[in-house]
Order: sequence, then C-alpha cells, then structure tokens
Amino acid sequence: MCGKVWLVGAGPGDAGLITVKGKALLELADVVIYDALIQLELLVQIPEKTKKIHVGKRAGNHSATQEEINQIILEEALKGKKVVRLKGGDPFVFGRGGEELELLLEHNIPFEIVPGITSAVSVLAYAGIPVTHREFTSSFHVITGHTSKGTKKNVDYPSLAKLGGTLIFLMGISSMEEICNRLIQEGMPSDTPAAMLEQGTTAKQRKVISTLKNLKRDCDQIGAKTPAIIVVGQVCKLANQLEWVEKLPLGDVQVIVTREKTKASKLSKKLLEQGAHVIELPAIETASMEDDSNFQDAIKEIMEQKTVRWIVLTSPTGVEMFFSLLKKEKIDLRRFLSDTLRFAVSGTATAAALERYGIYADLMPKKFSGKELGRAFEMSVDRNEKLYLFRSELADEELPNYLMDRGFFCKEVPIYRTVSRMNLEWVESVWDGIEKQEIDYVAFTSASTVRGFVQAMGERDFSIVSAVCIGEKTAACAREYGMNVWISEEATMDSMVEMMIKMKQRLD
Ligand code: SAH
Repeated sequence: MCGKVWLVGAGPGDAGLITVKGKALLELADVVIYDALIQLELLVQIPEKTKKIHVGKRAGNHSATQEEINQIILEEALKGKKVVRLKGGDPFVFGRGGEELELLLEHNIPFEIVPGITSAVSVLAYAGIPVTHREFTSSFHVITGHTSKGTKKNVDYPSLAKLGGTLIFLMGISSMEEICNRLIQEGMPSDTPAAMLEQGTTAKQRKVISTLKNLKRDCDQIGAKTPAIIVVGQVCKLANQLEWVEKLPLGDVQVIVTREKTKASKLSKKLLEQGAHVIELPAIETASMEDDSNFQDAIKEIMEQKTVRWIVLTSPTGVEMFFSLLKKEKIDLRRFLSDTLRFAVSGTATAAALERYGIYADLMPKKFSGKELGRAFEMSVDRNEKLYLFRSELADEELPNYLMDRGFFCKEVPIYRTVSRMNLEWVESVWDGIEKQEIDYVAFTSASTVRGFVQAMGERDFSIVSAVCIGEKTAACAREYGMNVWISEEATMDSMVEMMIKMKQRLD
C-alpha cells in the first residue's frame, strides 16, 4: 500500500503558530521530515514513537540536498507511511514546496498541502510592524534577497523602488548592503524606514529599526545573523509604538517544563499567559507498583473495621492511583465508603482531585506540607483512629515519623512509583539550547524531575543550568548536581511563574 504525504507549514517559530490541522497531522504521522528552521518548542510535541528525520543543517553536519530530501520523502511514502514534511513558515513561500511535490506526482503518491503562517508577515507582527497600514501603504511585496545562487530571476530594484509598498526581503541578510544601496540608487530616499528582524516570533527575537542608509551599520553593531527578514517601508516607523512582545513579563524567556506529561500543561499554560515559550519535556513518569498486595491487604483491613479510620492522600497522583486501584480490584464504592471512613489530604490540589470522585476531605492543613498535615492530625484526631497513607513509594518519612512519634497507628501503603523517563531524542538539542542561552530556565516541580533530567542529560557541567524549583527538597537535589538554583516562595505553580518574572526583572 502506498503512503501519503502532507506538506505542512510549521509557522515562523513560536510553536503556537502552527495551524490546528498541522498539529493534528503531527500527531498522526508515522514519519516527520523537518528542516533547520523548526524550533525545539514544536519538535518536542511530535510523539516519541514517530520517526523523525532532520534534513536541515545542524552543527557540524551538512544539510541534505534538495534531491536527497525529495528522495527521502518518496522512499518513506513508498513504504506505505503517513509522511509529514514539516517546513518553516508556509511551505510555498520560498520553501521549495513545489519541487518536493514533483517527484511525488511522478510516482502517483497522494498528497495534501497544509499552508502555514509565513514569516514574511508574522515576524513583522511580532516586531510591532503591521505589514500594511492605510496611512502608509497599499501593498506589500515579498522578495528573496538570495539572488547569487539558486534563483533564476534577478530582483527588479527599479520597480520595487517605485512601488511605495512594504518591501519584505527573506534570505537577505548576507546581501543587506546590496539591497539597501540598490533601493537608494533607484530613487528611494535614504532615510526611508527599514528594519531587520532576527529569529522572529521566538523567545530570542531581535530587531533593529533604522533607515535604508544606516540599516547595515546598525545591524553590524549587534552582529545580526540568519534567519532574519529585512523590511523597508513607512510601516517600520510603527515598530516602537506597537511593540508588544517586549512588554510581556516573560516575552523573551524560554523554559523547559519537566513535569509529568499529564500535569505539565497547568504550568505551561500559566507560563504561556505571561508570554513565555515553553518546551515540555517530561522527565518522570508515574508507574504502578509491581504487585498490588500491599494495597489489597490495606483495603481489606480498612473494610473490615467499623471504627473511625483514615485514608491519607498526599498528592493528586496519589488520588488517581488510589481510585484506579480500587477499580482494578472491582471494589464497589458503595461497599467501600462508610460514615466512619475519613479522608485527609495534604493540600488544595489533592483535595480538588478527591472532589472529582465526589468526596470532600475531612481534614486538610492550612499550609501544604507533610509536617502541617501531621500537626493537623495531632490537634484534632483521636489516637485510636488508624491512619493509612496511600502514596508514592519514594515519599519521605517526615509525615509517618511525625505521626508515629505522637502515638498514632500509621500504615504506609505504597501505591505508585515515580520513574525517571525523558525522551532522549532531544537531549543534544536541549543542551545546545542551554549552552547558547536560548533556553533560560528549567522548571523542576519535584526532586524526581531533577533526577530524571540529570539522568537523561548524562555527564554535563550543570552549573550553566538555571533551575527554578518548587521547594527546598527539589532545590537541594538540583544543588547537588551543581545547578544554579532559585526557589519559588510558595509551593505552587503560580509562585514558580512569579519567581521567573522576578528573575527576569532583575536581569533587565
Ligand atoms: N517558507 C518560509 C520561508 C523560507 S525561506 C516562510 O514562509 O516563512 C527562509 C527565510 O525565511 C530566512 O532566510 C528568513 O529570511 C526567513 N525567516 C524564516 N523564519 C524566520 C524567523 N523566525 N525570523 C526571521 N526570518 C525568518
């Protein structure tokens, strides 16, 4: 059976700028063939099981030639695979999308095209430059600045200089001087507003707003490099006034979120709201215990008792695992619950998880910590009432020790394990991003996420990692590996985000 190819535009860089259709296709593809412009932020969203083929330039390696790329796409399709050919921006805007389809046509391979948001418009928007504006221009023109090789036609500067529209040069960074000089030669005033926009829509976007005469000089000062766009026209004047990315609290910040997949999105959304670019790279996974006998015994004991006894849950994961085990044992909730069975939780998140099962906790400390929960028991619970702690195998002994020291019967029942598990495909790209300071922070929400991250990264000098940690224990673990550690004031996602905002303000 012959496969199919989707030529998909990935958008200009910000992972949120891929289309809904493009994102859905990334999830169903067997193979994704991508090039250098695709950001890690988006790449990590491709399922782990999907085959990924990088055909762009990477440090040290040469990029595949166009013929090679065409061949790779064809081969995968002939194997019967669902192939997504992922290209930066829109696949047809200087993207050679057409060339890639020709070979498929010859072989009767079915294809679809999913347009993308082109950098030619969106990079301007992220720099506060509207591509058109009624007061200034009635057209915009997208031009390749890459005239020396590859293109057949020369740029028609005399016409461009007369158009009065916004001129957008892609691939023009190395011929910037020529572009500006030619436009001036052909009659454009040398003080015409002009801009250079580098790595637009990413956390590291930079811009230079200048004039035709001075653009090259001003760009040289900051060492502008590709990928970048040159914009010429009156609309560039609006860049300062309409600047918006720079005003976002975390607009230039890229963060790795190491939480478990199911939980990562909460932190990611909060970061996104503040403008941050998020790379979700879960470093841990919840796994069930190898055998459930501890759980079975404890449940049996609990159900046989008639006096008051407590089920103590200390994390939302604990709640989920507890109920999934009850289900696995086919225990009917009507038989299990009774008015002498009490529930205690360690904090609001756990309470909320429990409420989803229709159970409102009988005990919850004001502050989230093992000790506080212990204190709450100490203050209000009779020593005859038995306590059963259903939690992670790795949970520390603070709470049970505290309770037992105060004369409680307290039974620990491990019901899940947290195992280190990170997708190793991106390890080198992640480290590269950290070294180049394109990745600013790594967010750790537990010591196990630190361990998972370190395990995946292997032997490195972690002193270049800025770790934002949720609490002392997480921080202590990160420090052990030599990371630069910041601790959020409270053990909440909001507080972690606030910490990052504060760190950034300090840097600015
Ligand atoms: N098909 C792509 C363009 C491919 S040509 C699109 O529609 O966006 C590659 C050129 O696009 C680069 O040399 C640069 O000029 C421009 N470009 C792509 N992404 C960019 C970005 N994030 N910031 C600035 N320029 C970018």
